[in-house]
Amino acid sequence: MIKQTLAELVRIDSVSARSNTQIVEYLERRCAAVGFVSKRFPYTDEHGLEKINLIALSGADFSGTPNVELALVGHTDTVPYDPNWTEATNLTERDGKLYGRGACDTKGFIAAALTAAEKINPRKPLALVFTADEEVGLLGAKKLAQAKPLRVRYSIVGEPTSLRPIRAGKGYSLAEVIVKGREAHSAYPALGASAIFRASRLINRLESIATQLKDDQHAAFDPSFTTLNIGLIHGGSAKNVLPGECRFTLEWRPIPTQPSEHLLDLFHAAIAEEMKADPDFQCIVDANRQDTGFETAPDSPLVQLLEKATGNESGTVAFGTEAAQMMLLGSEAIVIGPGDIREAHRTGEFVPVGELERCAEVLRQSIQQLC
Ligand SMILES: [Zn+2]
Repeated sequence: MIKQTLAELVRIDSVSARSNTQIVEYLERRCAAVGFVSKRFPYTDEHGLEKINLIALSGADFSGTPNVELALVGHTDTVPYDPNWTEATNLTERDGKLYGRGACDTKGFIAAALTAAEKINPRKPLALVFTADEEVGLLGAKKLAQAKPLRVRYSIVGEPTSLRPIRAGKGYSLAEVIVKGREAHSAYPALGASAIFRASRLINRLESIATQLKDDQHAAFDPSFTTLNIGLIHGGSAKNVLPGECRFTLEWRPIPTQPSEHLLDLFHAAIAEEMKADPDFQCIVDANRQDTGFETAPDSPLVQLLEKATGNESGTVAFGTEAAQMMLLGSEAIVIGPGDIREAHRTGEFVPVGELERCAEVLRQSIQQLC
């Protein structure tokens, strides 16, 4: 039965570049069939496509702001797939594994949540939350965190963790940095100023900041501190021209006990140092993404419950999830799901049948105990 549900979900192509209307219609039908009332929270994405966050409630309705005891959260979108991968939208079972795009990330969890919700009779309000655009920057979840259409006590957020409860995650921040210079003929460098030399001095300072960040430790993480990376750099126009501009992308993953601004403060101090040494130094910093991390205490009832139900000790991850947005809705959050994150996003993505079925059982127990 759960395999059938997963096959139906995988059959609906819901890559982030498409509207997720079709999969939402399917989820609405499934939720209505088990007596949930659902509501769409639509928005238009940057390409003009309609995207929908869907919330389905049991034991509550949408008059006022519902207070929900437990929310099961799954994203409806997937990463793109190779058109030559014939199993991508045609769930295929081999050796106890189910292959298909989204089977692991995160339609397996959604199938488990739908299955668990069929077999229960909650006394306290329960929500199923289906989001859009997770794979392109948690955009749907961010809309919900902003609009706050419900308050939530506990959230279980689906992501492939091989059924290990994840109780904390690092944040994710990005900044575009543009260092300005003055173009000149390279035979006469004194007539200009090299943006690349300037950027390289600034990058040296960032490397020192990366070392400094190790002083602020969070032992639950690996690595146990905020990390930074300069993943992209571009500058100059020709070999014999002093470069007028150099751009680079600074990415950092703050531990949840450290605000994202901490690194920006250190960076701005480094820029001020450069300006002291070179009064002509010019630099623009566009800090355009600051996804917060999340942390739920190890002694939270939610953590205890999921550790017991899965037999797995809770852990942490160094990548972003929708748990942070669920915390903004007032909840303690855990990330868990069937399948291995290392299999997600690949051609040949799969979920083990055993884990899928175990997940439905774990979610059923969670509903029973919390709701
Ligand atoms: Zn995912």
